[in-house]
Amino acid sequence: MTADVLVPTSAEEAASFFGDGTGITVVGGGTILLPEIAVGRAKPERALMLHRAGLDVVQADGDVVVIGAMVPIEALADAPDEVLGRVAGSIADCEIRRTATVGGNIAAPAAADAQRGDLGAPLIALGARVRSTGAGGECVEPIEEFLAGDRSGRLVLDVSYDRFERRSGTTGLRRRHAHSYSIATVAACARPDGSDLRIGVSGAGPAAVRCRSVEQSRDPVDVLRDVEPIDDAVASSAYRRAVLPKLVRDALDQLEAACS
Ligand SMILES: Cc1cc2nc3c(=O)[nH]c(=O)nc-3n(C[C@H](O)[C@H](O)[C@H](O)COP(=O)(O)OP(=O)(O)OC[C@H]3O[C@@H](n4cnc5c(N)ncnc54)[C@H](O)[C@@H]3O)c2cc1C
Repeated sequence: MTADVLVPTSAEEAASFFGDGTGITVVGGGTILLPEIAVGRAKPERALMLHRAGLDVVQADGDVVVIGAMVPIEALADAPDEVLGRVAGSIADCEIRRTATVGGNIAAPAAADAQRGDLGAPLIALGARVRSTGAGGECVEPIEEFLAGDRSGRLVLDVSYDRFERRSGTTGLRRRHAHSYSIATVAACARPDGSDLRIGVSGAGPAAVRCRSVEQSRDPVDVLRDVEPIDDAVASSAYRRAVLPKLVRDALDQLEAACS
């Protein structure tokens, strides 16, 4: 079977081709999708290739940072906010990071064997918004709401966040292998006086989540009120439950040291 290949040359054209997403497979960097196609698990009928849609730019010259969906993860090593660069630099290896995109990282569906979407943690901590299109048209929503919803019918166009003085802390745990997915990643941001604390956790479940309980109590154990750790090929839920409060504690300690 052959697929129709659509190659939009602007974001507007990409949105128009995508429509309500029916029968369309979006192709970002292909680091997940191409192996799935190669082994026959994915069989696109219409493939929407985004590489010429002009979505591969980071705009960071004003009060808002806008990161196009096709920006490679590797490009975030120089992100204007250190917390994003640090987590981006810990994902997979440089070959994957040069090809994998920001849009693919936050839009990819959950996998049974490992959790994806590590950029979700720092983007939640930064208060990022996702601009996407699909049934009902374009919308902009907080990333934690986008991640909690049904991502399958949305085309991600970009993510953005407000730029102001912040401090941050981030921790993560993965197996000692360059290709290993994370066991859990924690990112925390606050203003220099410690106010407006925001915490994101990825890698412990099918999507990154915001830890509002810890933001309110500042007690790392409360992370288990917000995150439901799962079993997969990388770690057991029991192990994740044991290490998550420690990872949150380390991220908060880093943040506190940066604020003082
Ligand atoms: C060896 C290996 C190690 C990895 N390690 C990690 C890790 O440590 N942490 C981590 O977070 N991830 C990891 N990944 C997962 C993954 O490669 C990346 O997260 C990556 O960002 C996916 O982006 P992509 O552009 O290659 O997605 P693609 O393969 O192109 O697409 C993945 C999915 O997202 C959809 N999609 C892509 N772009 C968009 C868009 N703009 N809008 C809507 N849907 C879209 C596709 O339709 C598809 O369903 C790893 C992958 C591999 C192969």
